[in-house]
Amino acid sequence: MATIIDGKAISMQIKDECKEKVAKLKSEGKSVALAVIQVGEDPASSVYVNNKKKACEYIGAESLSYHLPEETSEEELLELIDKLNKDEKVNGILVQLPVPKHINEDLIIRSIDPDKDVDGFHPINVGRLSIGEKGFVSCTPAGIIELLKRSGVEIAGKECVVIGRSNIVGKPMSMLMLRENATVTICHSRTKDLKEVTKRADILIVAIGKPKMIDASYVKEGAVVIDVGIHRPDPDSKKLCGDVDYDSVEPVASLITPVPGGVGPMTIAMLMSNLVNG
Ligand code: NAD
Repeated sequence: MATIIDGKAISMQIKDECKEKVAKLKSEGKSVALAVIQVGEDPASSVYVNNKKKACEYIGAESLSYHLPEETSEEELLELIDKLNKDEKVNGILVQLPVPKHINEDLIIRSIDPDKDVDGFHPINVGRLSIGEKGFVSCTPAGIIELLKRSGVEIAGKECVVIGRSNIVGKPMSMLMLRENATVTICHSRTKDLKEVTKRADILIVAIGKPKMIDASYVKEGAVVIDVGIHRPDPDSKKLCGDVDYDSVEPVASLITPVPGGVGPMTIAMLMSNLVNG
């Protein structure tokens, strides 16, 4: 039976540490502010933006909200970002993705000052991570490192397999595990014998975007299994599931993240950590 990694509790710990740091900064006369930009009315984006604002409120940081209409032009959005880049009172800038189709997402990401890019998506920050320089790191993978460390998992020298090579999760995750001195293998949709590779993993990180794809047959006895996936198996179901078939894998793993309550809550906690410590 696996020990469950409690992402909810660990994310609270991190938010409480951020709260203390904000209080300390305030006592020194410094403020912390996050600018949150949303373009359009995507309901999922509205939920994420709202949760980010609530987290700012919890830690005592200011959130400056910019909710722009769907028809906002790319130029108008770039102008706002430029203004926020120059505003000394703004520590972090976040554009909720996806942006409407008429706006070039890559251009928007590149227009944010890398030193205010709390999402860690700017190519400068991606590059900094690759060469081991300090910079903002994508929040979900950064959160997974915290989950592992705060659960007492030794990373150095371990065989780590990451399934998925997205820019937001898989690639930065692999770079972070490398930075922590793991031996890292990245698998993806073109990997030939996935099971043969994943069975080697002491630490298996799954970010595929396919509900319950990874069952016990992919997992070595005693492995630590981190499930990044979030799915609602059917529209009516209130229950969420991950990319890992939890009931199948839990008896084989030594530690495992549940869905919900594993990786999910870490993303916003690490956003706050980036804002406060970045
Ligand atoms: P993505 O779709 O961008 O990438 C999926 C990756 O999985 C791709 O690199 C692809 O090569 C690989 N893949 C697809 N099918 C495969 C297969 N059969 N075998 C091996 N590899 C395969 O997804 P993403 O943005 O990295 O997200 C992955 C999952 O994590 C999704 O379920 C997403 O909802 C979730 N997610 C959760 C959080 C969080 O806060 N917990 C954050 C981001 C993403």
